[in-house]
Amino acid sequence: MSNKDTQGIREIRINPIVPTESVLIATARSMRPQKAEEAAPRDTRMHVATCPFCRSNEDKTPPEIMRYPVEDDWTIRVVENLYPVLGDDRGKTGLVFGLQQAIDGYGRHEVIVDNHQHGIAIHEMSEEHLADLFALYKNRICQLYESDPRLKYVLVFKNFGPAAGASMAHTHSQIIALPVVPQNLQDELSNSKTYYEKHHHCIFCTLIDEALTFETTIYDRESGEVVRRINVGQYVIERGEHFIAIKPFASRYEWEIHILPLEHNPDFLTTSESHLKDLARIMKRSMARLDAVIGGAQYNYFLHSRPKGEQYQDCSYSYHWHIEICPRTSIPSGFELGSGLFVNTVSPEEAAEQLRNVTLDNDP
Ligand code: AMP
Ligand code: ZN
Ligand code: ZN
Repeated sequence: MSNKDTQGIREIRINPIVPTESVLIATARSMRPQKAEEAAPRDTRMHVATCPFCRSNEDKTPPEIMRYPVEDDWTIRVVENLYPVLGDDRGKTGLVFGLQQAIDGYGRHEVIVDNHQHGIAIHEMSEEHLADLFALYKNRICQLYESDPRLKYVLVFKNFGPAAGASMAHTHSQIIALPVVPQNLQDELSNSKTYYEKHHHCIFCTLIDEALTFETTIYDRESGEVVRRINVGQYVIERGEHFIAIKPFASRYEWEIHILPLEHNPDFLTTSESHLKDLARIMKRSMARLDAVIGGAQYNYFLHSRPKGEQYQDCSYSYHWHIEICPRTSIPSGFELGSGLFVNTVSPEEAAEQLRNVTLDNDP
């Protein structure tokens, strides 16, 4: 039997910011019979008596760090993680043994109960609530950086659904304060700095500009046939007053979306209240689009911002904070592990179009 070498895109797309996160776009592969696991039905219950993150079970978590609102019934709550991956119970200094090196697993690991309603999805939360959640991320990141100079990076992320590694069904995010700046962030920082030194422009701003203005036709060199047209706004999913949601040209995940401030800004912690409202709106709308297209998305999102510290001040013009949303519709295989290339079976242009075509309730 001949192999099904049919149409579709088959190309390696280089991530312009972090080349090691490059992607093999192979759309014919989506036609293969065996798909990733079917998504388990989402737990949509609003209160679960046995859930440690539900209201009235506050004694089932370690001590509370903060709650919002402070008085009355909380709607968002931050607690210490019962099973922290990093903690301050040891206090060893670095270990070196020949080539083997280790850094003490010092840090903090906290859980943010994003909403008192157990099974509510992000796109079902109000914009006001999401703005409060982002304000709380901001406050807690600030507090952690100020609490201890040994904390070099405070990572906020969310796992939603078992395919995204979530072990708890109640909607939650997490904060992990690390004793090092993660390597992928270091790569973003240094590569964007190199770009800035060469072009005197932020690479993230350039990508936004391209997403908004790029229009081009690629022809086949020999036959002269049109190979691809890139149209204005082809990669734009949502555009707000201060934020934009884009589909990366080299998307690692089929339905990956990045949200960035439209105006250049290296540091999430400087985002004003009014901008957080717009971020909330863009996040809610982007997640509603995802839900409409893939239904019950299981995903991770994480926030990348300039780390605290003098040595990162010179990234002010070159780095641009953002949120990466990574829906998990397939399971990485040996190829991904062995090659470091993510395989994406939906062309980012097609995915962007589908996401954009969704009509949201409050659209005119
Ligand atoms: P995930 O595995 O992404 O769903 O994240 C849930 C987190 O909650 C894990 O890091 C667990 O260690 C943590 N966790 C589980 N049960 C509790 C609990 N009762 N109180 C606080 N944290 C918990
Ligand atoms: Zn719950
Ligand atoms: Zn920028």
